[in-house]
Amino acid sequence: MEFTAYPVRNQPDVVEVRYDCQCGCKPRARYHRGADEANYEHCCCGRVHFVGVRADDRLRAYLEERRVRGEDADVTYTSTSFGKVTLAAPWGEPVTVAYAVPDRPRQH
Ligand SMILES: [Zn+2]
Ligand SMILES: [Zn+2]
Repeated sequence: MEFTAYPVRNQPDVVEVRYDCQCGCKPRARYHRGADEANYEHCCCGRVHFVGVRADDRLRAYLEERRVRGEDADVTYTSTSFGKVTLAAPWGEPVTVAYAVPDRPRQH
């Protein structure tokens, strides 16, 4: 998965991280400078990306909650599903992107 960090018009303290998903969607998630948060988009195919502080912890907690509720019974995330990259936000600081790809993504 190849992520790109974009500035957001008229919002110098916001970064938007997007990628072109193999299913055809263009998921995006934003992070506000200085916020203790990570935001995400969960694509229709099961790929998911989190952007922000402790992005990988939050991604794993999110998927674990869904698993417990039985919401991802049709897809499997294993240890090799997870990845993490660092991009530069428009204001120059690094921003963390954590992602997960299910073993067999859903059809779009
Ligand atoms: Zn997708
Ligand atoms: Zn899709």
